[in-house]
Amino acid sequence: MAVPQRRTSKTRRDKRRTHFKLHVPGMVACDNCGELKIAHHVCAVCGHYKGREIVKQQ
Ligand SMILES: [Zn+2]
Repeated sequence: MAVPQRRTSKTRRDKRRTHFKLHVPGMVACDNCGELKIAHHVCAVCGHYKGREIVKQQ
């Protein structure tokens, strides 16, 4: 079994983890209703995307 030749230093470990952060999805305001929605997705509130109604409202 492969085993590391030397222990990873705190500095090296922490440098590696600088890219390891909480993922926050890109949120933008909806063109139609202004509500926050996930970018490049149909709005969950009004069902609009790119200025057209995609999901019909009940
Ligand atoms: Zn909307």
